[in-house]
Amino acid sequence: MTHKKSKNIYIVSIEKGEEIIETLKELSVAESIKTASISGIGAAEKIILGYFDTITKEYTETTLEGSHEITNLTGNITRKDGDPYIHCHITVAGKDFASHGGHLSSAIVSGACEIVVQIVDEEIEREFNEDVGLNMMRL
Ligand code: FE
Repeated sequence: MTHKKSKNIYIVSIEKGEEIIETLKELSVAESIKTASISGIGAAEKIILGYFDTITKEYTETTLEGSHEITNLTGNITRKDGDPYIHCHITVAGKDFASHGGHLSSAIVSGACEIVVQIVDEEIEREFNEDVGLNMMRL
């Protein structure tokens, strides 16, 4: 991963073979990023998508093995218990141009992955909400 900072924006290039969520976590630690907005494009494989069932409050996961275009990666960085918390959703398209999307659990970059991280000058923590079953922002 390489990055360049311009005012409150980081331009990030995640390299082939690197895992996206883990790399964004490393960037957050290295650059002391507390709160930010994330957007990106690229290509990835071994993409683990999550679907949160709001009734059972459980995630179902599926893995897309081959290389896919990342047609959209959107998310945010906040903190939970003081540690970086990366929350991203992704839409990817395969060779047949069909799209799949969901909560991004993990994905390995297979080509390029270009991310823009926009810093938000606030510190936002998350806490688990039993009613929803998710770690919600405390605003
Ligand atoms: Fe999610």
